[in-house]
Amino acid sequence: MSAVTTNSAGPSDTAPLAGRTALVTGGSRGIGRAIALALAADGATVAVNYRKDAESAADTVAAIEALGVTGRAYAASADVPDEVASLAEAVQADLGPIDLLVCNAGIASRGGTVAETDLAEVERLMRTHVYGAYQLCGALLPGMRSRPRGDVVMISSVAAKQFAARTSPYTMAKVALEALALTLAKEERNNGIHVNVVAPGLVDTEMGRRLVKGMMGVEDISTLDASSPFGRVCRPEDIADVVRFLVSPAAGYVTGQIVTVDGGG
Ligand code: NDP
Repeated sequence: MSAVTTNSAGPSDTAPLAGRTALVTGGSRGIGRAIALALAADGATVAVNYRKDAESAADTVAAIEALGVTGRAYAASADVPDEVASLAEAVQADLGPIDLLVCNAGIASRGGTVAETDLAEVERLMRTHVYGAYQLCGALLPGMRSRPRGDVVMISSVAAKQFAARTSPYTMAKVALEALALTLAKEERNNGIHVNVVAPGLVDTEMGRRLVKGMMGVEDISTLDASSPFGRVCRPEDIADVVRFLVSPAAGYVTGQIVTVDGGG
């Protein structure tokens, strides 16, 4: 774990997320990194969780720090319960109660049919996307309830409504993640906690690039720009902007929603 200092030239006290503390799982790269930076730009202290790529995590923390807020990196694998428990303990010990949790950590499945896929892969996907998020919610909710406002945002996928062949472990995990979010939204509304889902389509990240290579043989994702909505493949920042709205005062009456961000399908 790496700590960084607070930069005195940070966002003002009137920044929309000033005084709030966020944890972004899988926040070191891709969509999670963009979310971490957006929350930091809006004034939040940001804890960045990652699994193994410490260099990317340190780079993201440095970028957060450059925005003038506190950032910290925490290694923990979302699919290992002991590591998730230690993560929850460490962030709260270091930074106080978390009032903004973004469950973004995720992995793709291998593209086999149900007949070809072994149960170990299904378990790995469920553990990473769903059980880790479930466990983190349980561990962080007591602290979150003590804060003026709480937010949980789950990063799902359009896969959860497409049910495409050869995606069963991933699709099952994202459908379950959405079920967790929507039940949690009802349970925690009276505690001032908002729970929402953002469901991206294809996004230009390492996962997105691997996906189009594996499924469509596309080596350069930018070649899909011309045939994509609005003339470009979705960027991590497009997802981050929706998250920053959902957790902002502007979304004070929004909870239990699934926001699809795919340029209209
Ligand atoms: P990337 O592969 O680019 O980044 C994944 C991030 O998650 C990294 O920070 C990685 O850390 C972390 N991570 C992976 N496994 C674990 C784990 N077990 N525990 C903790 N952290 C982990 O993925 P994206 O940014 O593309 O995806 C982010 C989320 O968005 C995922 O949930 C994905 O399913 C979803 N999504 C992505 C789409 C896309 O097209 N890219 C489309 C729809 C949804 P490390 O590098 O240390 O392993």
